[in-house]
Amino acid sequence: MTKEEIKLNEVGDIDALIAYGNKCTYCGKKLNTANEEEIEYAKAIKRYFPVCSKTCEDELARYVENDKKHKKHFYTMFTACAFITLIGVLINKPIVSFIGVVIGGLSMVLYPYPITSFETFVNNPIKMTTRIVMIVGTIITLAGLAFIYLATSGKTVFDFA
Ligand SMILES: [Zn+2]
Repeated sequence: MTKEEIKLNEVGDIDALIAYGNKCTYCGKKLNTANEEEIEYAKAIKRYFPVCSKTCEDELARYVENDKKHKKHFYTMFTACAFITLIGVLINKPIVSFIGVVIGGLSMVLYPYPITSFETFVNNPIKMTTRIVMIVGTIITLAGLAFIYLATSGKTVFDFA
């Protein structure tokens, strides 16, 4: 939707409803800000965010949908991670803590929706942010699995050096 089209749909302060930026909120492509009235916006929750194409508009809508559906799964797994890790420390069983770490890592890979404010994506496009969260989650998961392996095999990191 262009700014003109948004004006037809909304009442009140249009400028407050639009998140202005010079990048596509989904893919991060630079937008042609010279033609301000041609910039397309996609509605996410209550505000409008700039996008470069119909594809990115659809992807943004899909992200909003998935975020709504899976954010609670992310928080549940992340809370479980914190609890299990803490219990492992309290009962002095490192392996329990490492299982907690793996759950935390997996929560980021399966449900990469830790961002609470959509405004974040004006400067850090969704595609890049999601990818970084998944990569960090993968590293945490693999590190947790490696620690579990070391703890169960009786080996230490130094045995591999
Ligand atoms: Zn785009």
